[in-house]
Amino acid sequence: MRAMRLPVRCTECYPLGDYRRRAENEKASRLRLELRDDNAYVATCPNDHEVRVSLMNLRYELLFESGIVALLYRFNRESVASIASALERFCEFGIRVLLRHDGVSPEQVEAAWQFVENDSQRQLYAFAMMYLAAFKRPFVPPKQFETMASFRNGVIHKGKMPTAAKAMEYARWVFDLVWAVYAELERLDEKAVDAITKELGVRAAQTKLGPPKPGKDGKRRTTMAKFPTMLTPGAPPRDFDRRLADTKKRLDVWGLPPLGAI
Ligand SMILES: [Zn+2]
Repeated sequence: MRAMRLPVRCTECYPLGDYRRRAENEKASRLRLELRDDNAYVATCPNDHEVRVSLMNLRYELLFESGIVALLYRFNRESVASIASALERFCEFGIRVLLRHDGVSPEQVEAAWQFVENDSQRQLYAFAMMYLAAFKRPFVPPKQFETMASFRNGVIHKGKMPTAAKAMEYARWVFDLVWAVYAELERLDEKAVDAITKELGVRAAQTKLGPPKPGKDGKRRTTMAKFPTMLTPGAPPRDFDRRLADTKKRLDVWGLPPLGAI
């Protein structure tokens, strides 16, 4: 199976509002880039323009989408691994939101992050305790968590082969959990949610990419991109089946073949 790749356009070849130029360069302006960790994409189009894109989607959104895509093509183990990582990265997001809400400075957070940096499970448990402190109840019923964690550990650490149905059940559980917690974080402190979203996504990418270089016309162009995924905040209802149907319809966005074709 081909990997998910990011579709981007060269804004020099495909300028906003210039329909003639757009039609001429429909194919040449389109690039497909391998997914990266840092959201900072640099590529060169066939007409030799440098394309710099800051991706706004957070890591947990991309990991979850990648897990769902794997599941749709029946890579059940790979799906569970990606979706488990999505939950861990979401816990990182949650920790950072709660610390911002509590007024901890970004510098202090960065300095203390080394306590948990190399161990995603520690981040998950740190989030569980921080959530408990903020909302006075567990972020998930402990018994339910134990059942799902034991399924995840069996797949990841013991090489178990999950059925598609079990992998789908796990995906649905993580989806519902993430959205329930996200909604609570939004209610608690929408500003902190927005700030951390920007910092982990587009701002980190822009820092890495540096200021945009001027094109031949002397104009500086910077491109930001955001793709709808099952965990991307936005208009469609946060409903698993509805969003799964949307994901199935947009596999070609990532350069993937239709489901019946493989
Ligand atoms: Zn170009």
